[in-house]
Amino acid sequence: MRILVIEDEAKVARALEQGLEGEGYAVALAHTGEEGFFRTSAEHFDLVLLDVMLPGRDGFEVLAALRQRGVRTPVLVLTARDAVADRVRGLDAGADDYLVKPFAFAELLARIRALLRRGRAEPALELALGDLELDIATHRVTRAGARIELTAREFELLEALLRHAGQVVSRETLAREVWQEERRSEQLDNVIDVYVARLRKRIDGEGRPRLIHTVRGVGFALRLEES
Ligand code: CA
Repeated sequence: MRILVIEDEAKVARALEQGLEGEGYAVALAHTGEEGFFRTSAEHFDLVLLDVMLPGRDGFEVLAALRQRGVRTPVLVLTARDAVADRVRGLDAGADDYLVKPFAFAELLARIRALLRRGRAEPALELALGDLELDIATHRVTRAGARIELTAREFELLEALLRHAGQVVSRETLAREVWQEERRSEQLDNVIDVYVARLRKRIDGEGRPRLIHTVRGVGFALRLEES
């Protein structure tokens, strides 16, 4: 289980890192909101611990930007004040839970376990990003309500991209999750590119706002453009 801690105070960040690693979690640290936003968009984390008080972009802004992109990683907000306004702002911005500083470490661990359990519950049967909707059970895909016909493989590819919505998905990940290939090859890379191009035509064609983006040298991302 990978946890990203976004906290600018080095001492607090280190204490969290050590404590969580002691519990067997893999921990990454980000010291600014920008760095936290960037890493959450680019890598997979099972949970994000987000401090509200950050220099520059504060925790609420970072969270709102992530949710706007479609990133669904569970976020536990750490706030310094137990003000109702702060709590409401956090939940409005898309927080899954919040904890008021100072807190007991045992309390933090309990909240983390609860969020991770929730995240592991039944995988969602309906996925959506903006006006794009995908229904696993009926294999139905629509954009702005209009039906889009996909082949089985295109559907699986779109499902994989939607499960990582807002994040960059590498060709390795697509090879593993869609083609069940552990190893990447040039041949498979070409196949993936062909499928992404086809999917793009069907999903983003006809002048619709673009959802499938190519991230040069890394892979692809299904995300909403920041407005
Ligand atoms: Ca802070």
